[in-house]
Amino acid sequence: MKSENLVIALTKGRILEETLPLFAEADIVPTEDVFESRKLLFDTNLENVKLMIIRGSDVPTYVEFGSADMGVAGKDLILEHGNNGFYEPLDLRIAQCRLMTAGPKNFSKSSDRLKIATKFTNIAKQYFADQGKQVELIKLNGALELAPLLGLADCIVDIVDTGKTLKANGLEPKQLIAEISSRVIVNKASMKIKNSTIRGILSKLRVAVSKSIS
Ligand code: AMP
Repeated sequence: MKSENLVIALTKGRILEETLPLFAEADIVPTEDVFESRKLLFDTNLENVKLMIIRGSDVPTYVEFGSADMGVAGKDLILEHGNNGFYEPLDLRIAQCRLMTAGPKNFSKSSDRLKIATKFTNIAKQYFADQGKQVELIKLNGALELAPLLGLADCIVDIVDTGKTLKANGLEPKQLIAEISSRVIVNKASMKIKNSTIRGILSKLRVAVSKSIS
């Protein structure tokens, strides 16, 4: 049977270092060193499979519009993007962390509208709306921990792993919003049209994940 051509979008950076061993276990290996090259699209040992290596926040967009058939992205970025246009069939159980609210120790402010700095404005908006809290969202792209220190915001919504970054900046984690890990996402049309190829890859990745956590 002929295998359909398939493009898989991977998140670059630290997540990629954890993703590639799982893909190798599933018999998908780029033909050159992706960490050395400045290319964005790579051939693999499988003639029909190519890997795109891009920013995590762009992975859901490429997969939603079908330029990539599949992708690997953090759950935080998937939640922020919204999951129209793709399925999320597999948790790779890598890059695990938590999306949390955080703020200064002993912080309490119940009456006024809270000012929240975050790069996850959609998630934060939904989270505080669900809690019936009125908040003012301030979009930042990095160094969020500075916002409460400098009076730009009362609290932040950010990724927490060890909690060291928060602590080093005089903040502490408060409420858990979501447990985060990297997920495989699949374009809905690709899932129909390229079903056997995609199912084959998913089942090999599923085995690779169970081996990696056992
Ligand atoms: P930590 O000091 O260990 O709590 O790390 C927190 C910082 O590391 C956050 O500000 C995040 O930007 C980054 N970080 C940690 N884990 C992840 C992850 N799985 N995905 C994306 N960013 C992460």
